[in-house]
Amino acid sequence: MAATTEKKTVVIIGAGLSGLQAAVKLIQSGSFQVKLLEATDQAGGRVNTSWKFGSFPIELGANWIHGNHGNPVYELAKKHKLLHDGGKNVLNRFGEWFDDEDENYFYTENGMKINYKLAKKAVDIYHKIVDKCDNTGQKLDDGSRANVGDMIDNEGIKEIEKLKLTEKERRQMLGLLEWAKKLECVDNACQSTYDLSLRWFGEYVALPGDYYTEMGQGGYQALVDLLLSKIPVECLQYNKPVKSVDWCGAKSERSEVKDDRHAIGVECTDGEKVTADHVIVTTSLGFLKENSETFFNPVLPEEKLEAISKVGYGNIGKIFLRFKNRFWNKHLDGIQFIWDSCDAASSKETQSKTSHEEWMKSNWFRNICGFERVLYHKTTLVGWIYGKEAEYMESLDDEEIKN
Ligand SMILES: Cc1cc2nc3c(=O)[nH]c(=O)nc-3n(C[C@H](O)[C@H](O)[C@H](O)COP(=O)(O)OP(=O)(O)OC[C@H]3O[C@@H](n4cnc5c(N)ncnc54)[C@H](O)[C@@H]3O)c2cc1C
Repeated sequence: MAATTEKKTVVIIGAGLSGLQAAVKLIQSGSFQVKLLEATDQAGGRVNTSWKFGSFPIELGANWIHGNHGNPVYELAKKHKLLHDGGKNVLNRFGEWFDDEDENYFYTENGMKINYKLAKKAVDIYHKIVDKCDNTGQKLDDGSRANVGDMIDNEGIKEIEKLKLTEKERRQMLGLLEWAKKLECVDNACQSTYDLSLRWFGEYVALPGDYYTEMGQGGYQALVDLLLSKIPVECLQYNKPVKSVDWCGAKSERSEVKDDRHAIGVECTDGEKVTADHVIVTTSLGFLKENSETFFNPVLPEEKLEAISKVGYGNIGKIFLRFKNRFWNKHLDGIQFIWDSCDAASSKETQSKTSHEEWMKSNWFRNICGFERVLYHKTTLVGWIYGKEAEYMESLDDEEIKN
C-alpha cells in the first residue's frame, strides 16, 4: 500500500549551516521529503563571505573552524579540500602560543609600545585566572549570580600585587588585564565579562586540536555552496520567512493549518501554509527571544521558554581597514590596544541617557580590542569591537569609523 512506503516530510526553517546540513543528512538518508524555508534571499545565515576587497574573500561572519578533532565542519571542509593550506594552522592568537615578539604588538592609548615580557606576563596571569574561573565555577550552585568579570578583577589585583612592578608597569598591567577581558567578551559574544556566569563559564569546552583553522580561497561560502550542491533546488525556498509553527497537530481542532495526515503546520508570513510530519527550527537565539511566545502554537514548555530567556548574547562587530602599504611586520598576528581605563558603557549603566549618548560618542572605539591580520590580504587588518559600543558603531558612517 502506498501510504506505508510514503516518505515522511520534514520542514526545516532556516538555511544557515545548521539547516543546510540537516537537509543534506535527511535527503541522503532517502527516507524523507525535505522542504527548506529561508527568510532571506540567500543561504548561509551567519556565514557571510564577501569579495568586496577584490578576488580574495573576507569573512564578515564566521571566520575560523575551532578544533579539528571530531569536528564535522572540519572533516567536511578537509574532505573537499576547502581549507587554507590543507588545514595547516597559520594563525597564532591569544592562546596557547603567544611567545614570539614579532607576532603581537601592544600599544597604549598614547602610542607607547608595551614591553613584550610584561604583556606575556599579563597573558600568563590571565590564563591562570581563567583556569581558576573554570574550577571555582564548578563548585558553585546552579543559580549562583557570581560573574567572571569580578573574579578577573579580584584575582588580577592579587596576582599583580605579587610582582615587583614600577607604578607605570602596574598601570600597564591593569590595562593588559582589561584588554584580556575585552577579548573574552569577543570570544564569548557577551556584552561584558560581568554578564558572564562564573558557574557556567567552564561548561564551554572547545573541541581539541588547532583552534584557528582557516578556510581556503573560497572562504566559508565554499562550505555553504558544497551543502547547497547536495540539495535539489526544488527543496529550498528563499524569501520565505516563517511566521508560526503549529505543533499541536495540524489534524487537531486547534490548528489553523488543516491537514488530516500531518502533525505539523507551518505558516509563512506571505500566508502560505505548509504541513509536515516533523519540523526543524534553526533560527537564532535572538529570533527565539523576540518571537518564542508567538512563534509556536501551543507555546513551548516553560522549561524551554526559560532557557531561551536566560541564555544571553551580545554584539560583536568587525572593522576591515585596507591600507596602501603594509606598515607592520609580515609575521604579525595582531596589534592590540591597551586603552586607558574608563567605565565601559557595556558594563556600567549608571549614566543618564544624554550623558550616556555623549559618552558613547567620544568613547565607543575603546571597545576595540585590537586589529589582526587578514588571510590573503597583505595590506588589510580586521578590528574587533564588542558590546553596546559595537551596536553604536553601526549607527556611524564608514568615514567616521575610519577616522
Ligand atoms: C561576526 C561573526 C563571527 C563568527 N565567527 C565564527 C567563527 O570564527 N567560527 C565559528 O565556528 N563560528 C563563528 N560564528 C558563529 C557562526 O557563524 C554561527 O554559529 C553559525 O553560522 C550558525 O549557523 P546556524 O545555521 O545555526 O544559524 P544561522 O546562520 O543564524 O542561520 C539561521 C537561518 O535562519 C534564517 N531564519 C531566521 N528566522 C527565520 C524565519 N522566521 N523563517 C525562515 N528562516 C529564518 C536566517 O535568515 C538564517 O539564514 C560567528 C558569527 C558571527 C556573527
